[in-house]
Amino acid sequence: MGIIKAKNLLFEYIRRDEEGNVESINRAIDDVNIDVKKGDFVAVLGHNGSGKSTLAKHINALLVPTEGTLWFKDMNTTEEANLWLIRQSAGMVFQNPDNQIVASVVEEDVAFGPENLGVPTKDIWTRVEDSLNAVGMMEYRGHSPNKLSGGQKQRVAIAGIMAMKPECIVLDEPTAMLDPNGRKEVIRTVKELNEKEKVTVILITHYMEEVIFADKVYVMDEGKVVMEGTPRDIFSKVAELKSYRLDVPQVTELAYELKNSGLAIPDGILTTDEFVDAICKLRQ
Ligand code: ADP
Ligand code: MG
Repeated sequence: MGIIKAKNLLFEYIRRDEEGNVESINRAIDDVNIDVKKGDFVAVLGHNGSGKSTLAKHINALLVPTEGTLWFKDMNTTEEANLWLIRQSAGMVFQNPDNQIVASVVEEDVAFGPENLGVPTKDIWTRVEDSLNAVGMMEYRGHSPNKLSGGQKQRVAIAGIMAMKPECIVLDEPTAMLDPNGRKEVIRTVKELNEKEKVTVILITHYMEEVIFADKVYVMDEGKVVMEGTPRDIFSKVAELKSYRLDVPQVTELAYELKNSGLAIPDGILTTDEFVDAICKLRQ
């Protein structure tokens, strides 16, 4: 079994009036099955309101299923006794870096997580240094987080999670509020953590360019997983993606249009290099 497994997961937000009567029920997750292998980089795509954040919150038991089951490392998230261990091993990074910074000096901010876990002081500083190095923010250890760029703040937030030595990090649209450079910094950092530190990554995003190197992609729509596969599998199905109100990477789109107009270009072109190769082959 993988590090994260969801079986027939269903979640409903239930709104009640003052007397406790049910006013409305919103099914945000509808019979979702996922299986994430340890060490994988998994991306979750989906239009606004498709249930991505709700799913993310199930991974570290911020929400528990209305029906079905989610296991993190074989631990059922509904069992109270598992909560501490689950929260410790599944770190969450959210959209807005400003809401995640708690201290007025970078290194203290990164130390906050392991301090809360009761890590001995001497080990905390090793962890802080390792984590700041891992996200390339060591030179800012004494700085005030307020003065950093959005991308840098988000890297500090990621270092804070890494300092807790999680086995898995779940990033819920971590680049949504960043400029293109900030987005690149953060994605590069996350990719490196996955490759070098072997952290399992769940990246929720609606930037298609960010998922092309994922091991696996899940596409969500109206609470359901509607597509799953490698980035190439997913991006070969341009029309289907569009039906879920999603775009494809620009170069994939261009290749798709050229193919539709009669050129012999393969499906699922993901990078400019692949595109150039395909075009050059046409001329031979
Ligand atoms: P996404 O992250 O893909 O945008 P969400 O998981 O935030 O999607 O939302 C899924 C559905 O659940 C949407 O219809 C949204 O309106 C609804 N929803 C999200 N949070 C709440 C909440 N706290 N109370 C009621 N409904 C919610
Ligand atoms: Mg969301």
